[in-house]
Amino acid sequence: MARIVVIDDDSGICLLLQEYLTEQGYMVDTAENGKEGLKLVGLHHYDLVITDIVMPEMDGFEVITAIKKKSPHTGLIAMTGGSVKLHQDVLLTTAELMRADRVISKPINLKELMSAVTEILAA
Ligand SMILES: [Mg+2]
Repeated sequence: MARIVVIDDDSGICLLLQEYLTEQGYMVDTAENGKEGLKLVGLHHYDLVITDIVMPEMDGFEVITAIKKKSPHTGLIAMTGGSVKLHQDVLLTTAELMRADRVISKPINLKELMSAVTEILAA
């Protein structure tokens, strides 16, 4: 069974994705910011990290950098709805340049997310 960690400061998103992905048969942990997420990544093996970009403590770009360094074979999905300062497209393009496997815009389309998850885990 593939293990996934969802990192998002919006607890509603963490809950939604945890419920949805658990129903799809995955083992899912959640963390409320990059720092907490990386702590989990240090403790367990994850096949996939799904991270928000705009978060306090440690943002998604820092998460991507750390995962690429520590665990380069772990799949990475970055997601954002943008921030007050930066447009969604800018953030998602940056995540792509940082070699996130897929980027997802918010509000999340669960079907789109699911196809990204299955694609990455099959690779
Ligand atoms: Mg956020």
